[in-house]
Amino acid sequence: MTTDTAHVIVGASLAGAKAAEALREEGFDGPLVMIGEESERPYERPPLSKDYLLGKADRETIYVHPQEWYAEHDVDLRLGVEVTSIDRAAHEVSLADGRKAGYGKLLLATGSSPRRLLVPGADLDGVLCLRSAGDSDRIRAAFQDASRVAVIGAGWIGLETAAAARAAGAEVTVLEMAELPLQRVLGRQVARVFADLHLANGVDLRGGVWITEITGTGGKADGVRLADGRHVGADVVIVGVGISPNVQLAAAAGLEVDNGVWVNAQLRSSDPDIFAAGDVANAFHPLLGKHVRVEHWANALNQPQTAAKAMLGQDVAYDLVPYFYTDQYDLGMEYAGYVEPDGYDEVVFRGDVEGREFIAFWLGDHGRVLAGMNVNVWDVNDAIQALVRSGQPVDVAALSDPDTPLESLTSG
Ligand SMILES: Cc1cc2nc3c(=O)[nH]c(=O)nc-3n(C[C@H](O)[C@H](O)[C@H](O)COP(=O)(O)OP(=O)(O)OC[C@H]3O[C@@H](n4cnc5c(N)ncnc54)[C@H](O)[C@@H]3O)c2cc1C
Repeated sequence: MTTDTAHVIVGASLAGAKAAEALREEGFDGPLVMIGEESERPYERPPLSKDYLLGKADRETIYVHPQEWYAEHDVDLRLGVEVTSIDRAAHEVSLADGRKAGYGKLLLATGSSPRRLLVPGADLDGVLCLRSAGDSDRIRAAFQDASRVAVIGAGWIGLETAAAARAAGAEVTVLEMAELPLQRVLGRQVARVFADLHLANGVDLRGGVWITEITGTGGKADGVRLADGRHVGADVVIVGVGISPNVQLAAAAGLEVDNGVWVNAQLRSSDPDIFAAGDVANAFHPLLGKHVRVEHWANALNQPQTAAKAMLGQDVAYDLVPYFYTDQYDLGMEYAGYVEPDGYDEVVFRGDVEGREFIAFWLGDHGRVLAGMNVNVWDVNDAIQALVRSGQPVDVAALSDPDTPLESLTSG
């Protein structure tokens, strides 16, 4: 396809970079502009709370593409500049440096930002959150001098950061509003596995607590005050209380926005020339039959291919089974599927739960597998995805029996 009309991508991270790659692979040879607020070229975030934070991987390993890839693929990469508005009628975006960029099709890949903790002391020195490579550098440096680390929020980022702080030799306290870590996402039974993992690794894990203040002396954080009056001393306080999609641009432009940019299965927004992918997209998922916004790596990796094809006029739909993974201490896990909090009937285990080598399945009505999570068991995630995708009731006894191949449960 030869064209002079530019396609523009806002957000130069995983989703943005993958969209640029897919547009070129699909044959788009017109001008391609990618604009990113961060000064780094697109990089992947999962290592920032794992090997990169632990000092086991160097900076070069986190990038999506080598520096020269962008010039080689004729991608006009503009970094360190924010897109401040979209003029839908004129088909152009305005940049903070005063420039404008016209578009034929526009992709919003603006991702998400950490939620702030709204308590006194949240802006003291030594209170850190983890989203960017710079954040990861700051946390790693802070861990080197810290003997006590408090982590507020026992979600994925909080727990991975707690594990990294333990590896750095700090005493670690994790403070969580719910009774157990990850309770909302995994339910009590599986959340218990993560609680036990952190307890076994020496973390002081406190559930059911409410933070009222981050205390400090001389402008520097020295601990966290809880609603019951107790004080947890800390040299560094990590805040990991979730993220919000970066929808400001879309909302100001009058696009439909509801917990993300509201897009159809083609990832097309309420404006037919504007698309969204990655953390910011609340997309209709044909397999699940509803809109979902997925805040995970695989979604930012894969959705852009659908968005790019749709931008080029192909009739496509994004329906991959949601997938994510984590690494904490010696536990590695993959999760595939989608379950609303409390949106399942039972959890069925296969394998050794106490030894942390098992698969957990969340079952819905009529014994359908809604999601599965393999913990320290490998090469089974495709079979788990096939079970989720099949939507067929499964035999619970066979599902929990490690000697029954998972593939046999979908083949009949
Ligand atoms: C520390 C960490 C660890 C993670 N670990 C895992 C994991 O183990 N497994 C997993 O599945 N997922 C993990 N994730 C989640 C995964 O990294 C995200 O889902 C993924 O980064 C989303 O990519 P994205 O491109 O949609 O958005 P983002 O990565 O958020 O990128 C959006 C980009 O857009 C830019 N931007 C926003 N607004 C504008 C604007 N107006 N103008 C210009 N640029 C703009 C932002 O600066 C940013 O660079 C992790 C995330 C973090 C932070």
